[in-house]
Amino acid sequence: MTHAPVPPGATIGFLGGGQLGRMTAMAARTLGYEVRVLDPERDCPARYLANETITAPWDDADAAARLATGCAAVTLEIEQIPRASLEAAAKLAPLSPSVEAVYVVQDRARQKAWLGSNGFPLGPFRIVGDATTTGDAVATLGKSIVKSAMGGYDGRGQVRVTRPDEGRAAFESLRAPVCVVEGFLDIATELSVLVARRADGVAVAYPTSRNVHTGGVLTWAVTPSGADASLESQAQALALGIGEQLGIVGLLAVELFVLQDGSLLVNELAPRPHNTFHHSERAHPTSQFEQLVRAICHLPLGAVDVVRPAAIHNLLGELWQRGAPDFGKALAVPGVRVHLYGKKESRPGRKMGHLSADGATPEEALDRVLSAYRALTI
Ligand code: ATP
Ligand code: MG
Repeated sequence: MTHAPVPPGATIGFLGGGQLGRMTAMAARTLGYEVRVLDPERDCPARYLANETITAPWDDADAAARLATGCAAVTLEIEQIPRASLEAAAKLAPLSPSVEAVYVVQDRARQKAWLGSNGFPLGPFRIVGDATTTGDAVATLGKSIVKSAMGGYDGRGQVRVTRPDEGRAAFESLRAPVCVVEGFLDIATELSVLVARRADGVAVAYPTSRNVHTGGVLTWAVTPSGADASLESQAQALALGIGEQLGIVGLLAVELFVLQDGSLLVNELAPRPHNTFHHSERAHPTSQFEQLVRAICHLPLGAVDVVRPAAIHNLLGELWQRGAPDFGKALAVPGVRVHLYGKKESRPGRKMGHLSADGATPEEALDRVLSAYRALTI
């Protein structure tokens, strides 16, 4: 099957108008496309980039159909959209990634089972559907994390436990029909790889990003990651293999754990732009956002080599506790840019924006975002 490039002036539909949709919409605008957005929130961050915004909940399949009608391509920034809504959109316009790919990824238990049965390396885990089984799993695995299969992000929907009774309580408190219990891993480093793939199977993998989380939420990320050549090629091959096996069209982020013994495990997948590649705007000729537009519009994929080391630092809602921070303090640091998502309401843990910086070395880029962030907290 040949895929004609989608011409400028055509409309791209976005399921989701959060920050990922907003930044991808900016890239789509730059390439000359019109933008239509569906999001449950009226004042979603992508609203001001869109020709048209539809406000409706994710389970409104008619709204998903309205979004897709007349679009040359539809993509998404969030994987947890009910299958019926995905199918309704896919009936009316090419949806990338496909319903099937999103369906595998959107449920943590289904995703784990899929990765395991396709031979991709995972840490020890159990899929559980009641408190007793959760307690048994913790008895076997020891120190663990109980994660709800659906609906979790940024470390929400997860409880860290050590004893079986804590495991049982965690299952009850999560109020999820299915959870995954993961043995707590001795992680040396967290890396991520981003794969971009077109419908004809042409694919590229970005060099790995090194990521540091606090309490389950990404704090900062830096490229190049410092992984040695062998780990780097192993990580890229793994991510390209998963992307191909899933038949991803668009982007696939693969979160990886490097253990103390150097072995590589898959943490989880995201079929969309990813927080750990926001600095792709600085580090590579092609940002993840532009790459997504290129991939779904059957355009040539852009170069992904590292042209300049770069880093990002997330800005979470707690920084707004005493009013908006003085961003001039961050902008005074050489190489630093401020990216704000236009969210009107700040809440603790809510991703409000990020800082990015380039540098002569990854250490310098990281040092710049860290000192700019510190300046905002004083
Ligand atoms: P996000 O949306 O930020 O990707 P999430 O809610 O999907 O987060 P995970 O990716 O499952 O959550 O976990 C968040 C972080 O918690 C990981 O990046 C890692 O730092 C830590 N973590 C998760 N699972 C484990 C594990 N099995 N052992 C040790 N640490 C873990
Ligand atoms: Mg994660």
